[in-house]
Amino acid sequence: MSQNCEKNLSDIYDICDRLYREMCSTKKNDHSTLFMYLTELGKTLVGADRASFWKWDKLRHELWTASATGTDRIIIPDNTGLVGKALKEQRVVVTNDPYNDPDFNSAVDKKTGYVTKSVLVMPIADVNGDYIGAFQIINKLDGGFDEKQDVRCLSLAAIVCGIALESETFLEESQHDKLTKLKNRMGFYSDFSKKYNKLLESGRPLSMFICDIDKFKRVNDTYGHNAGDAVLAFTSGLIMQSCGAEECAYRWGGEEFIMMMPDTELEGAVKKAEEIRVLIMNSPCNAEGNIINLTLSFGCRQFDPSMTIEENISVADGHLYTAKESGRNRVIYE
Ligand code: GH3
Ligand code: MG
Ligand code: MG
Repeated sequence: MSQNCEKNLSDIYDICDRLYREMCSTKKNDHSTLFMYLTELGKTLVGADRASFWKWDKLRHELWTASATGTDRIIIPDNTGLVGKALKEQRVVVTNDPYNDPDFNSAVDKKTGYVTKSVLVMPIADVNGDYIGAFQIINKLDGGFDEKQDVRCLSLAAIVCGIALESETFLEESQHDKLTKLKNRMGFYSDFSKKYNKLLESGRPLSMFICDIDKFKRVNDTYGHNAGDAVLAFTSGLIMQSCGAEECAYRWGGEEFIMMMPDTELEGAVKKAEEIRVLIMNSPCNAEGNIINLTLSFGCRQFDPSMTIEENISVADGHLYTAKESGRNRVIYE
């Protein structure tokens, strides 16, 4: 084995070893750690200067990457650039003269002063063969890219990236509600273990409200299920808009929502709930041409760290029940 080859292999083992130890450490890892190592692996496997991994957001018609070296997260329309071309045409794209290639977007180079000399983009599919992202390698260290040879070298990193991206997408989807775009109950528990628990452990205040659309069944019965869905999307939109930078809203169930308010005492949560109650009451919803007046009932709670999440929510839920019993369209907190 040549010295060069041995060095290359040793570098590859090092990256995999670091990744393995990182993943198995007590440190909380997310997919971005994985993608960071995988792009480094791809770069080393091919022998190039830069690598980035692009995700295809088909809903927003965007391509985005957080792993392009030396730059922050970049978002581009999904029909642009060499990555867009590779995904659109579902094939590997190589250019060894990018500045004369009409599909190459030189904006990043102009901004950063970097000189791109060669590019290889390898589209990546999930297990069903649907394209979900692309691996981009820039500036082969010893001359231009050779499509056949370099794709062969890159395939290991590309396959693992595809599997990682697919699992990231599954996780993301399992924690979000498609109708309202809010995080769902699974997302709530995930956020609790990631951030709210830490906040409570460090002695900081955490408050929430749970709210429920009043007489929502009547909307479905009168205007139909699609109008009901439109009302849910409308209501969650207003709640989401009312979230401060640190606050987050969740769809707890059918027509029930929760808002979490870190570093907020009960008084702050009551104030926020009251603002949203008035906002909803004064915002008629146009659902499929029907103008529908809505109201919400609220139960507020400041978390007691000595109680479980469920116990705390159950107290808030009790307040919500009282709000319903005592006439609806109100905020109850004690
Ligand atoms: P209350 O004021 O006591 O809350 O009365 P309500 O009619 O809002 O409460 P109820 O629990 O009787 O009805 C809730 C309804 O919400 C019943 C269910 O069919 C409907 N629902 C739950 N999820 C969805 C959904 O995703 N879309 C639509 N359109 N309706 C839903
Ligand atoms: Mg209801
Ligand atoms: Mg309900």
